[in-house]
Amino acid sequence: MKIIQSPIVMQEYMLNIRKEHKSIGFVPTMGFFHEGHTSLMEEARKENDIVVTSIFVNPLQFGPEEDFETYPRDEEKDIQLAKKVGVDLLFIPSVEHMYPTEMSISMHTEKRTDVLCGRSRPGHFDGVVTVLTKLFHIILPDRVYFGLKDAQQFAVVDGLITNFNFPIELIGLPTVRDENGLAKSSRNVYLSKEEYRESLALYKALNHGQQLIVHGETNPHIIIKEVKNVLHTHTSGTIDYVELLSYPALEHVHEIDEQIIIAIAVKFNRARLIDNILLDTDGKVIQSIR
Ligand code: AMP
Repeated sequence: MKIIQSPIVMQEYMLNIRKEHKSIGFVPTMGFFHEGHTSLMEEARKENDIVVTSIFVNPLQFGPEEDFETYPRDEEKDIQLAKKVGVDLLFIPSVEHMYPTEMSISMHTEKRTDVLCGRSRPGHFDGVVTVLTKLFHIILPDRVYFGLKDAQQFAVVDGLITNFNFPIELIGLPTVRDENGLAKSSRNVYLSKEEYRESLALYKALNHGQQLIVHGETNPHIIIKEVKNVLHTHTSGTIDYVELLSYPALEHVHEIDEQIIIAIAVKFNRARLIDNILLDTDGKVIQSIR
């Protein structure tokens, strides 16, 4: 596995790979790998000649009060894990590499971001689309792999790729959970023992919402209320949001008559956890999107 830090070197390398007509699968990450990350790399490995992963904690997508400085990092372990799953190229640029000068152009999302995390984290998705545009131009991938754990991010990237005509296939893969149902996240290390126990309520609440739809409930307000009840009963964390929206447009619905997302964010002491479930009109779970 080759490790490259310079965007220029990386882009030259990728241009040569493209000349050889090899397919390129790309998994962008912020590092501190867990099985959620490696599941994306494994799928990319199956479908492409060359697999590229990036590790970049992007300051542009963190708010002033957020955890940019303390975001968990373990580059050595990440390098070993990437090697193990067969990544060919690991791109690890520094902040100075990615933003050597002040940007003279900024990107701003217009849709799909006034709800969920976009509302709680103003500017977050502007930072995400900016860094992804740069990464897509550096890596030149044929396919990019994202986790549906971050379903709003997936919807925003879908808009980016479509609106700006990136010749890239977007693939959304299932949320990887631990044995108790908690969605894997780099930020789970912030949870105390008690908070971990309580955090299991997120998936429980989502499943309860799904069951209501399976049994014929079509009123979003009732479902949201019931999901909140489960969270209130089982956690001391603060509910940031519980929303039920169309997917991937992320618009409010009056009735469940299209593909939807139920999404939750709960704040514990140091960790803010998000989770979601994507459902078709019968309440059947949508695991992956291509
Ligand atoms: P991050 O390093 O948190 O930016 O995540 C990098 C990629 O891994 C994103 O596409 C995430 O959606 C994905 N990811 C993070 N956690 C999970 C998980 N538990 N299951 C599946 N994908 C995940």
